[in-house]
Amino acid sequence: MGLHKTQGIVIGRRALGESDRLVDFYTRDHGRVRGVAKSARRTRSRFGSALELFTLGELVFFDTGRSELVRVDHFDIVHPFVRVREHLERLGQGAWVVECLTRLTADRDPQPALFGLALRSLRALDAGARPQRVATCFALRAIDLLGHRPRIDRCVECGRSYPFPDASLDVGAGGLLCAGCGPGSDALDLSGAAVGLLKRLRALGWEEGIRLPLAADLDEELTTTVEGVMGRLMGSLPRSSRFLAQTRRSLVQQPVP
Ligand SMILES: [Zn+2]
Repeated sequence: MGLHKTQGIVIGRRALGESDRLVDFYTRDHGRVRGVAKSARRTRSRFGSALELFTLGELVFFDTGRSELVRVDHFDIVHPFVRVREHLERLGQGAWVVECLTRLTADRDPQPALFGLALRSLRALDAGARPQRVATCFALRAIDLLGHRPRIDRCVECGRSYPFPDASLDVGAGGLLCAGCGPGSDALDLSGAAVGLLKRLRALGWEEGIRLPLAADLDEELTTTVEGVMGRLMGSLPRSSRFLAQTRRSLVQQPVP
């Protein structure tokens, strides 16, 4: 209960009634918070353009303790991440990142490390890093932070040490399965090169990971694997994945001169 102040990122928003806005934040100190911003849709709203998707700000909210909705008192922009919204693929991958936050975390469950990771991802997108890789590196770290880190050093069923042929990744089982034990119901096929790459990305720092040059087919396998893991953790494929697939197709069809 009472008045709280924390940094937060806008991860969702929609109209509420005549002039209000319902806003979802991912905050450093309270995790996911949903609040009502009164009169936010009026032209002379005190919130101005602060409540745009991805905006980082200093949030002041009042929690009555009677409802899960809080009252948004102030949201002062720290960084608007305008460039993430202005570019189709950055927008799509940014939406993918916030969808992961929305669907894999609970209300009022503070995870400052995950907040820091989301912020780092938005900064990288804003600075022009390759959107797909940023989202992949975000997801790999988020999976670990959320307690789902898969074992990739041995078969989680029989304990046989990797490498072995025809490995699959079973998210429900918690890691790799050998051909004798798999494939499980959650199985994702994984090449030897992809297992090696996952190991390498775990060892690399953030900047090195998002800049690591990769052959196109391995890069694609990495993306598919990470999307598969996220889809299994969420129970269905992220909605933004479909948008991204369409975006990629249209970008391929209309090369930039
Ligand atoms: Zn096995």
